[in-house]
Amino acid sequence: MRSEVYWTDQYSPSNDFKFSSTLPEKVDVAIVGSGYTGLAAARTLARSNISVAVLERHSIGWGASSRNGGMATPGLKQDIFKIYKKYGMEYAREFWKASVEAIDLLEEIIDEHKIDCDWSRKGHIALACKQSHFDKLPEYADWIKRELGHAKTIVPKEDINTEIGTEFYFGGLSDEVSGGLHPAKYLYGLARSVSELGAYLCEGCNVNSVSKNGSKYEITTSLGSIIANDVIIATNGYTDMLIPELKPKIFPVGSYIIVSEPLSADLQKKLSPKGRMFYDSKWFINYFRLTPDGRMLWGGRNDLSTDLDLNESASILSKQVRMVFPVLEDVEFTHTWTGKLGITFDLMPHIGKVNGIHYAFGYGGHGLSIATYLGNEMGLLLSGQKQRSPFEEISHQTMFFYRKDPWFLPFAAQYYRFLDWIS
Ligand SMILES: Cc1cc2nc3c(=O)[nH]c(=O)nc-3n(C[C@H](O)[C@H](O)[C@H](O)COP(=O)(O)OP(=O)(O)OC[C@H]3O[C@@H](n4cnc5c(N)ncnc54)[C@H](O)[C@@H]3O)c2cc1C
Repeated sequence: MRSEVYWTDQYSPSNDFKFSSTLPEKVDVAIVGSGYTGLAAARTLARSNISVAVLERHSIGWGASSRNGGMATPGLKQDIFKIYKKYGMEYAREFWKASVEAIDLLEEIIDEHKIDCDWSRKGHIALACKQSHFDKLPEYADWIKRELGHAKTIVPKEDINTEIGTEFYFGGLSDEVSGGLHPAKYLYGLARSVSELGAYLCEGCNVNSVSKNGSKYEITTSLGSIIANDVIIATNGYTDMLIPELKPKIFPVGSYIIVSEPLSADLQKKLSPKGRMFYDSKWFINYFRLTPDGRMLWGGRNDLSTDLDLNESASILSKQVRMVFPVLEDVEFTHTWTGKLGITFDLMPHIGKVNGIHYAFGYGGHGLSIATYLGNEMGLLLSGQKQRSPFEEISHQTMFFYRKDPWFLPFAAQYYRFLDWIS
């Protein structure tokens, strides 16, 4: 098994976009991080004739944006009913609408820039791991329909084989709005659109410091310095001590994926008759799908750490996938990799500002569409095309026990394992 990201192993950007190995002297906006957030912000700003440089310490899109499952589903990491309980119905409606519009935005960007990224909108199904999980679904679906106007369909156990080729689950809830794509092809296509709009894409450019210099910011990087009127931090799960005030607002959690060899057309049809995206109902969630070229992609974790050995994580994940799909017993898994999710304490994505420096992050496992959306939102706010965003209005919760090192993750992992056991 190769310890490589399947997406970038299979597809490399070649001539997709132009990148710059030197920095411009000054720009209107400097963006740290070249994932979906940074690139979507750059796209929207560049369309308003605002000069932009995207600064990336590795290669363009090196972070979670080229490593994810490629599944775009409505909702946020935090459950929408809990969002309603905490912020009220008006905000719940606004956040839900944003999460659905985020998938439309993804599609719009793909269409507008003719990004060939295997985008296909065949819906998803959330799968119940226990009877008690399934029993809660009808009331939940009714509430979402009544209060948010969004249709989801109950799939009882007896019909589950119309959706998935296993008897493992107790039923599920399907949603037609979701879609899937090849995350690296989308990322590089987005980068191409940004470079065509005239933004600088700077690779191998580690940002070492950001300091105020009069009314502007001086950004010191491994490629030299650059002056900007505004700075956006778009580093999500890879946020470090660059801006020390940001570190307590987000912590990294590892997510792990394995991908199989290509499956026969018959087996693909059996495992996923409708080509859905899938995730299950556990706290330690498993998410899975067929890749555009017909391999099983299986993701998850049973730990929150970011540094599990990739062979060990592959062995855990392959046991899980074979338990759900015994028919995959003899199928070889060819790739194993990991990436960092950015988690906030309230499980909400946030747009904010510290010392005048802007940031957008905290998507959990929902960043494909939401990071694109928040990057765009950030661009609209900075270019004056939008005056407000609900993501900047909610307070950004921190915890007194976390400043730099997420020492609490092993304890949290035990707690979630316990919840999975008793729920
Ligand atoms: C394994 C995995 C599976 C996932 N599956 C899904 C899924 O199926 N669906 C979904 O919606 N979401 C999924 N996600 C989440 C989604 O991928 C992320 O939320 C999203 O990509 C975040 O985008 P971003 O641009 O904010 O950050 P990233 O793409 O992580 O980019 C941040 C970048 O900042 C750079 N950086 C950090 N510090 C500096 C610095 N000082 N100087 C220069 N550059 C710096 C990093 O190198 C990195 O490239 C998954 C994530 C992972 C890891």
